[in-house]
Amino acid sequence: MSSTPQPAVSNFIRTIIEADLASGKHSGIVTRFPPEPNGYLHIGHAKSICLNFGLAQDYHGKCNLRFDDTNPEKESEEYAQSIQDDVRWLGFQWDGEVRWASDYFEQLYQFAVELIKKGLAYVDDLTPEQMREYRGTLKQAGKNSPYRERSVEENLDLFRRMKNGEFADGARVLRAKIDMASPNINLRDPVLYRIRRAHHIRTGDQWCIYPMYDYTHCISDALEGITHSLCTLEFEDHRPLYDWVLDNLAIPCHPRQYEFSRLELHYTITSKRKLLQLVNEKRVSGWDDPRMPTIRGMRRRGYTPEGIREFARRIGVSRSENIVDMAVLEGAIREDLELRAPRVMAIINPLRVTITNFEGAQAREADFHPNQPELGKRFVPFGKELYIEADDFAETPPADWKRLTLGGEVRLRHSYVVRCDEAVKDATGKVVELRCSIDHDTLGKNPEGRKVKGVIHFLSRAHALPAEIRLYDRLFTIPEPGAMTRRAQASGAGMAPPRLFPQADGSASIVSETDSDKDTDFCAHLNPASLAVVQGWVESCVKDAAPETRYQFERLGYFCTDRCDHQPGGKLVFNRTVTLKDSWSRGQP
Ligand code: ATP
Ligand code: MG
Repeated sequence: MSSTPQPAVSNFIRTIIEADLASGKHSGIVTRFPPEPNGYLHIGHAKSICLNFGLAQDYHGKCNLRFDDTNPEKESEEYAQSIQDDVRWLGFQWDGEVRWASDYFEQLYQFAVELIKKGLAYVDDLTPEQMREYRGTLKQAGKNSPYRERSVEENLDLFRRMKNGEFADGARVLRAKIDMASPNINLRDPVLYRIRRAHHIRTGDQWCIYPMYDYTHCISDALEGITHSLCTLEFEDHRPLYDWVLDNLAIPCHPRQYEFSRLELHYTITSKRKLLQLVNEKRVSGWDDPRMPTIRGMRRRGYTPEGIREFARRIGVSRSENIVDMAVLEGAIREDLELRAPRVMAIINPLRVTITNFEGAQAREADFHPNQPELGKRFVPFGKELYIEADDFAETPPADWKRLTLGGEVRLRHSYVVRCDEAVKDATGKVVELRCSIDHDTLGKNPEGRKVKGVIHFLSRAHALPAEIRLYDRLFTIPEPGAMTRRAQASGAGMAPPRLFPQADGSASIVSETDSDKDTDFCAHLNPASLAVVQGWVESCVKDAAPETRYQFERLGYFCTDRCDHQPGGKLVFNRTVTLKDSWSRGQP
């Protein structure tokens, strides 16, 4: 029933892999997805997951799931669990056990000792402020630390004592001895280890020194025999360091790093740090808020794994900017749901209709899907009192009106042709009820001697069930709420932010974004109308639907029963996944 997988779109990485396989450089490929368990995954990660796991599938290789757990303060078991769930939900399975960078802490330590012995690493006592000073700038070379020429013996001794907890947090670091004058700041004696007394989710209090990301990542890749290490473009300037570490260690495997551009989606953000801020400041209900671009949020909203994978296929992989319109994502989801979602009727804004000649009217069976007979049928009840959508009636209709008007006829979906004979108004002049009559001769057949063009949906009032319906709209009012970040990054022109240097508090920052953009900026553009909760009505056949059941509500859009709040047989809660037509590319909310 699901959409047939589309052929893979070629890209520069596939070209490289095919060449490596053809030349015999590799007999099989091994990729990895290396998230840090410091937040929930988002649509950008989905791109990376589809790429890494997809390549392994296509080329009969392997893909590892490896947690980059080198930053204990920010990491948690909850995040690690959610990431595994999300990867599986997207339809992928990693090779063997989940791997953790912390599995390699002992080896990483021994490799650091090896670098010290080779005279390629030293313990530095500079304060974080001094270190920043010595580092230089994009235009100006750095200068050597006065501790740079310590003897191998002294370095070995100090590093061992760092490990043994003899020094305070931030008092000393281990640095690679590369080149303080390098035009690439990442090569100006990057920090390899820092002292941090933090409880680690896996190793507990066993370690008080933690290896830095760049040092850990390349070695972990090599230990796992990764052939193609794929990452986003902000790591391009870290590649020389990746290679430097592996070139200088006795590890037989030297994976190659290739960079591709990050996915950015219009009207939302793809930064874990900012998503965390939305959660912490309670601007959304949680990581799984259906407005969030997280995999959890998209899942709760009703997006399908197949639709997300198709989206990833469509956006492709390249090194050029990858800012994608929401319409592309919604289009992929909508096309998938069109094939698989049963169709039922629901009313969001009801107008009461009384059928004055109801006597003898019958209900009919109707297919859940016009092209998927295996989805079955249900009874569509009819009644003396109906609900229709209020905006399907107009007293003074515009030209071309195909819906209901005084004296006019429409087909009620799966039922009779109905004519509106009278509009009943309240004291303010608002239409509160329509009095209509049906043509008894039109159940399952066309009326005699005239054509009725319009079809509207309806519910029998006596049978309809109340439901909470949550209508979601874009999270931000501007297309690029994360643009400040990107601009700040771009201004580094060919030089990534210096990720390897400790912060003033002695911790080491591995954020890939500059801290210069104040994060309130993007919150100012949150869309206050991104969620509307309405009380609507649904066909009784959905009464026992399990959480996460998807439907098309005819003419209204695709909806999904809420994972958390919907109760089969009880309180019914539906989330609007996506409208039936694209309203994004036309620029209206
Ligand atoms: P941070 O490292 O700042 O916490 P991150 O978004 O890089 O945030 P990771 O957990 O390190 O998060 O990401 C795991 C993998 O997903 C990395 O290989 C990264 O390159 C990739 N990735 C992250 N964001 C995107 C994105 N927007 N588009 C494509 N790939 C992404
Ligand atoms: Mg990262």
